[in-house]
Amino acid sequence: MKRVGAHVSVQGGVENAPINAHEIGAKAFALFTKNQRQWHAKPFTAKNIDAFCRNMERCGYSSAHVLPHDSYLVNLGNPDADKRKKSLGAFIDELRRCRQLGLHMLNTHPGNHMNLASEEQCLELIADSINRALDQTEGVTVVLENTAGQGSSLGYRFEHLATLISKVEDKQRIGVCFDTCHAFAAGYDIRNTQSYRATMNEFERTVGFRWLKGMHLNDAKAGLGSRIDRHRSIGQGTIGNGAFKSIMRDRRLDELPLILETEDESLWPEEIELLYRFEGSRRSRSI
Ligand SMILES: [Zn+2]
Ligand SMILES: [Zn+2]
Repeated sequence: MKRVGAHVSVQGGVENAPINAHEIGAKAFALFTKNQRQWHAKPFTAKNIDAFCRNMERCGYSSAHVLPHDSYLVNLGNPDADKRKKSLGAFIDELRRCRQLGLHMLNTHPGNHMNLASEEQCLELIADSINRALDQTEGVTVVLENTAGQGSSLGYRFEHLATLISKVEDKQRIGVCFDTCHAFAAGYDIRNTQSYRATMNEFERTVGFRWLKGMHLNDAKAGLGSRIDRHRSIGQGTIGNGAFKSIMRDRRLDELPLILETEDESLWPEEIELLYRFEGSRRSRSI
């Protein structure tokens, strides 16, 4: 079955995330385990952790359906050694926070070369950072997200993801997340059945579905190949409903967290309903 959800708020405490997800009819969710725009975060209390685990169980979620996203400040490929070290420290802290919550994945953008290194050099730095992070933690898989290619960000070609996977030593703890808006902005068309199939075949050939741990379902504001990372609500952007129909009918995506990161969260319940209608089956009320 499909596991559609959204990136929900943790306002008032991380333990509220499963409740917020359940309230909008989500069967999966994403969250920030700390403020995404700050380096430091207060450690979780035993009370936070207990309540989070209790709410996960009460709302029927398992860790396989939760895809936490790391801070936007982290740049594991920063060519500046001091800044890269700071990012690595923050990233390790986030991996540990996921583990404390009983979660098994952490979604991150690969990194940016800041025009201070070549793409190849930067991919090398990212892989080295991930290897160090995995060495110093346990139980959590690093999930690399494809990007729009905005600025100097890497991960906009499937080949970047494949290169990183090949350089990561612990293959049990590496995976990828496919963001529809980012893929489209990076030049991968998915708008109709034919283009969706061609792009997914290319993904299978280059990366491989066995590494896919989740998807971000976002329509896009800008055009194909624009390299602009701006999300739109489902069906209201330049991608359109066709892509999301293909996704909801693609059996290879069963049981993966399919996460909305669309801009108007008041629309999330409707977007989730719409996506389940695309699947051709009624949304079950109990999860
Ligand atoms: Zn992201
Ligand atoms: Zn995303």
